[in-house]
Amino acid sequence: MDCLFCKISRREISAEIIYEDNDTMAFLDINPRAPGHTVVIPKQHAENILELTAGAVEPLFLTVKKVTAMLKKAFEPDGFTIGINHGKASGQAVDHLHVHIFSRWRDDGGGSVHSVVDNPPKESLEEIALKLKN
Ligand code: AMP
Ligand code: ZN
Repeated sequence: MDCLFCKISRREISAEIIYEDNDTMAFLDINPRAPGHTVVIPKQHAENILELTAGAVEPLFLTVKKVTAMLKKAFEPDGFTIGINHGKASGQAVDHLHVHIFSRWRDDGGGSVHSVVDNPPKESLEEIALKLKN
């Protein structure tokens, strides 16, 4: 597969790999936005969470949990932001699902996940819930 993160998972392109198992890999982001900024990927190529097979979801998030614990031990941050850019509109640049893990400090200048969008709906929550459940 001609995909940057598939190539990293096959070790055809080098990266600072900090964790690997049969299903997943975690490596340092080449352009870190925080100390230890890590991306966790499934080895199975999937562009996003909707394309990932159900069985690959648990191993992926178990690795997110393990790597978060590794970062906590190494950097002792005040918190974390854990997130996925899903689709170009959200900022996804690499078309292979990856979960970003950012260590966070009270004074690091960042915001919460709420700060990535400010587009409140016109419909009521009730209307939206109905639309989703129908
Ligand atoms: P996204 O915008 O969510 O698709 O993020 C892609 C991330 O991959 C960015 O934070 C990049 O800095 C990172 N990235 C791109 N190429 C590499 C690479 N060769 N090794 C490690 N991280 C990379
Ligand atoms: Zn891939």
